[in-house]
Amino acid sequence: MAAPCEANGAEWTIGRLLNWTSEFLASHGVDEARLAGEVLLAHAANCRRIDLYARFDRPLDGEQLDRFREWVRRAAAREPIAYLVEEKEFFSLAFRVTPDVLVPRPETELLVECALDHCAKTGLTEPKLLDLGTGSGCIAVSVLTQLAGATAVATDVSPAALDVARFNVDRHGVADRLLLVEADRLALPDGVVPEGGFDMLLSNPPYINPDTMDGLDSTVRDFEPRIALTDGEDGLSFYRSIAADAPRLLAPGGVAMVEVADCQAAAAVEVVEATGRFAHKETRADRVVGQERLLVFSLAPKA
Ligand code: GLN
Repeated sequence: MAAPCEANGAEWTIGRLLNWTSEFLASHGVDEARLAGEVLLAHAANCRRIDLYARFDRPLDGEQLDRFREWVRRAAAREPIAYLVEEKEFFSLAFRVTPDVLVPRPETELLVECALDHCAKTGLTEPKLLDLGTGSGCIAVSVLTQLAGATAVATDVSPAALDVARFNVDRHGVADRLLLVEADRLALPDGVVPEGGFDMLLSNPPYINPDTMDGLDSTVRDFEPRIALTDGEDGLSFYRSIAADAPRLLAPGGVAMVEVADCQAAAAVEVVEATGRFAHKETRADRVVGQERLLVFSLAPKA
């Protein structure tokens, strides 16, 4: 197969590039290679994905083609597409992402949906949220864009991640309702816990057991930040921290919603319930692979 952009006769139109790239990326084991090709081309051509199809016969200009060629080379080496174009869609919103943050996953949208369902069901119109390990900020920002009365404190231990989150908070216009805080786990600085406590703790913590890191897809293992993937212990230590330290941060009747690793739901329930301060209320499975992915706990009244 001739490499795109080599002067070999036919012009490299968007249509030809898309077909060539889809095949090339698929042959390198890239998931959803056609979609990946579309995302890269749309960013290179500076248009929306659907607009590509109206521009099939148009060529990219020289600079666009150079950028695209470089991205395709890196994508074939399994670099996440989201890091190349510095953007990922989550909950129908565009989030900036860099290698300092985890790439937002579709299954994590479950956490946003569940938080919104909880507010609707309990009549919470002004929920106070704590997003532990916010990364790109995608969870807290998405909830706040849906609920005009919601406010949030979003923490991360990584200042570089907080810079990315800050960009997204500004981009989506929620800066007046969302406070970004550098903190390790639940060691929050004075003055950030709202009076009466948070109504909800939301978290997609680093839950990969370090012993299983080697088995991860290289796109994840070799490119995403290790501290966002694994706790370096047994994958359950963030649930232990929540069980121990979240009760004093939550309002009476407060809830904790957490994402869990494949096949780890039962182990996480055991860990969170171990202190006797939380009761497991609900499990949700992700729609794509059917894995139990989200656990909801409510704060039990003090004995
Ligand atoms: N869900 C991510 C993965 O599949 C891991 C994210 C996390 O550890 N919270 O690799």
